[in-house]
Amino acid sequence: MNPNNMRIGHGYDVHRFDTEHREEKPLTLAGVVLADKMSLLAHSDGDVILHAVCDAILGALGEGDIGQHFPDTDAKFAGAASGDLLQQVLIIMDAREHYIVNIDITVIAEVPKLTPHRVNMISSLANLLELPEQRVNLKATTTEGLGAIGRKEGIACAAVVLLGGHA
Ligand SMILES: [Zn+2]
Repeated sequence: MNPNNMRIGHGYDVHRFDTEHREEKPLTLAGVVLADKMSLLAHSDGDVILHAVCDAILGALGEGDIGQHFPDTDAKFAGAASGDLLQQVLIIMDAREHYIVNIDITVIAEVPKLTPHRVNMISSLANLLELPEQRVNLKATTTEGLGAIGRKEGIACAAVVLLGGHA
């Protein structure tokens, strides 16, 4: 890999929990629908992990952010499956002749407990990103009860990605 073609990107996203669980908008993280009876407020499905991943890839490419490419004022993206948005981002990455070397993700949440879902979420990410699972790292942490996340008001996610260039 030519080190001159390596690019690093960072993504960060937060979504607030809805006041009640909405059947039509189940909690979806990393493309996995969780059984926990809670929903995130969002124009799309609110998949905070996939949004951070999209922003990290777009950031590495110098392509702005997810809001620029898929504006939430556009009815076309209402209730959009974030996996579809990620596919669009991967098409942009392919067009720019880059590929993912590895990705490291940190979810910041007090609830739900993510440990039981970790294996499924990594497998889903590897599948969506067309990467071996060894190149996808997913960590979860809490804020020790501090702040909005600590008060269980929402979920945040940060992602860092390294891209290599085919050229
Ligand atoms: Zn988002």
